[in-house]
This record gives sequence, structure tokens and C-alpha cells, in this order.
Amino acid sequence: MDTSLEQARQLDEQDDLARFRDEFVFDDSELIYMDGNSLGRLPQRTQERLAIAVHDQWGRRLIRAWNEGWFEASERLGDKIASLVGAEDGEVILADSTSVNLFKLALAGVLARPERSVIVTDALNFPSDLYILQAVAQATGRRVVMVPSHDGIRVPLEAIQQALDDQTALLALSHTAFKSAFTYDMVRVTELAHDAGALTLWDMSHSVGAVAIELAEAGADLGVGCTYKYLNGGPGAPAFMYVRRDLQPRLANPITGWFSQRDQFDMQLRYKPADGMRRFLSGTPPVLSLLGVESGVDLLIEAGMDRVRQKVVALSEFMIALWEADLEPLGFRLNSPKVADERGGHVSIGHEQALAIDLALINEMDVLPDFRHPDNIRLGLSPLYTRFADVFQAAQRLRVVVQEGRYKKYIGQRPEVI
Ligand SMILES: *Cc1c(COP(=O)(O)O)cnc(C)c1O
Repeated sequence: MDTSLEQARQLDEQDDLARFRDEFVFDDSELIYMDGNSLGRLPQRTQERLAIAVHDQWGRRLIRAWNEGWFEASERLGDKIASLVGAEDGEVILADSTSVNLFKLALAGVLARPERSVIVTDALNFPSDLYILQAVAQATGRRVVMVPSHDGIRVPLEAIQQALDDQTALLALSHTAFKSAFTYDMVRVTELAHDAGALTLWDMSHSVGAVAIELAEAGADLGVGCTYKYLNGGPGAPAFMYVRRDLQPRLANPITGWFSQRDQFDMQLRYKPADGMRRFLSGTPPVLSLLGVESGVDLLIEAGMDRVRQKVVALSEFMIALWEADLEPLGFRLNSPKVADERGGHVSIGHEQALAIDLALINEMDVLPDFRHPDNIRLGLSPLYTRFADVFQAAQRLRVVVQEGRYKKYIGQRPEVI
């Protein structure tokens, strides 16, 4: 593949989605932001949306605003996100953080398989997910089986298959792994779990908005996902939950707050779950943060997930070609799968001195990548605003940092948040 700057510029010119970049705030035109998989950029429209929510709704309408769009917002936004993940209206709702949602659905899932004793997950899963699965196992007298990854990049389907049996209550996996971007074939894996009689719980935090997800086609049971990464929903924005429609009445929400109560405002003393996804809510949602999610989701719907996925693949193939041409000779490794179908929206580049290189990029080179222990420089390729020219520059600056030894003075430094 041609990896020149001219080629990068040409790819940008031919890019159907190029115009979406203007939909985002860029007060830092020199900065190459490669961390959209950790915190997406601020959409222009979100600034207006939140200004209205604060000044007009909270400021003037006060409590009346609950009847003017706030109360239904969790479901309305859930339906929009459903259209990005191949689910149907009424199968997705927004509430709480990904971690809390995962706890709720994992516990609900395990309790729906009372005769089974094991939760299966893998060693590539996000630590928060692993901690929560451990807590669910402990609370219910189950155990967690963690399928290993031999190369730290992938987990073969056969290994998952071997871990599943008639004791598996729940198979809980990240659809796209946060370090390597390895992405499971959701259809195949769900089928394996169902063959074993287990439920599936997919964490789509790192795939939603970057990977074509087909929850309905896979027949997936349960899911959660983050809205502040590729959905550009803002820091700490509420996460989503998915429960397949036929399972909804059969699962019990373990945190039965009043927002999940049938006829909530009758203030009955006995709990009776609401119908549909509302039964998985708990307390009052963080309304301002919730409203802040909408514009970012609208942009992805306008762009269309087919085109979004095509762009993600094109950006990551370009990055991998640059790695091969310019970075591999300098000791950089590819810590992501080479096959596009097995990859999410970021590319991880490994190096012995990855953290020092990362710090040099941030402090001296105007590139903001992301670092994940022990040796991963993650380059997030956010389809609505990352340009091919940005990918080119990021790779060149990685090269310069090593060729000129600029990373050396950062060896041994460890910032608090990385
Ligand atoms: C980002 C991410 C989370 C985030 O969880 P929070 O509760 O928002 O802190 C959880 N799981 C995965 C797989 C993630 O990528």
C-alpha cells in the first residue's frame, strides 16, 4: 500500500464522511487526537443542546421539564442506539455507568440460570468487567472461569467453546477487547453459548460506533456499552443496556429502584416491575449527561454504520501499512489483529519503551494517543473526525520520537492517569 502523505491526502479527499469533522469542536487544530476510543470529541451540537437543557429547561421550566422530554429520554436515546447495534426499538435503554449496568445484567443473567455454577469470561476483558463478574460470582456462590489469551491479542473461538458446558450460566465478554481491539464474531460465539445452554452478555463499549454490531441477527441475550467513546457522549455519560425482548419479562432487575416500578407515580408500597426495558432502570438518571449523548448518536445515525465501519477499516489498514513500512524496523510491534474482521476501531502498537514514547508524543509532538499497560500505545481511529493525514502524522511522529531518542528522558516516569 502507498503510505505517502499524498496518498493520505487523497484518501481524505475521497472520504464520504469527511464533512462530519466540522461537526466537532477543534480549538486545537495542531493537536492530533488519537484517543477518541477513550473520550470522544465534543460535537458542536452538544454545546447547544446542553445550553438549552441548562438555561431553558432546568433554568425556566424547572420540574415541568420532566414532562417535556426528560422522563422519556432514557428510552428515546436507547431506541436511537438500538439502530446502531442491530437491535430493535424497546430493547435498549440508557442508565448508570457501564460498570453498574454490567453488574445488574450479569446478576440478572446468573439468577436466570439457577442450576448452573460458572460465569465464563476471558483474560482480554476490561478490568472493571472482571472485577464485577467476580463480585457477582461471589454474591451468588458461583465461580468465574477466565479463558486465557496466549498472545495477549486474540482468544480463539475453540478456547471459548472448550470453556462452555452444562455448568455455564453466563458467557460475558467484551465484544472488542480494550487493549488489542480483537473483536469476536458475535454471531458464532453467541451460537456456541446457546448450544451450551448459557446466556451471553456482551460489553460493546469498545465496538459501538466503530464495528457493525448485529445483536438481533446474533440472537444475543444481554449487552451493555459505553457512550463516551465512539459515540462522543461526553465524560461519564450514562451507558446503555440491551436485553432481548423475549427475555425482558423473564429477568429480574437486582437494583429495583422506583424508576423501574410499574406506575411509578402511584407511590405503591409493593414493588411491581414495569414492562419493557424500564424494568432495568434503578434511580433518577443524570438528565444533563443523558441529554448530552443525543447529538453524538445522531451524527453516527446520519453517517450510517455501513459507511462508518468502512472508514474505520480503511483508517486502520492505513495505520497498519504505516507500521509495516516505518515502525516495525524500529522495534514497534503490532499488538492488534491483522485481519480487519477481527479488529475494532483502534490499533495498538507495542514497544519496549511504549510509556516513554507515549509521554514524548504528548509532551513534545502534539499527538495525544492512549497508553495501556504494559506496552501498548493505542491509536484510536474515530471515524467521524480522524483523517488519514492524522494517521500519517501520528505514525511519522512515532518514528521521529524513536529515531531521535526523544523518549529517553521520559523513561521511568509514570503519570497518575494514563
Ligand atoms: C470503557 C469501558 C468501560 C467503562 O466503564 P465505566 O463504568 O464507564 O467506568 C467498561 N467496560 C469496557 C469494556 C470498556 O471499554
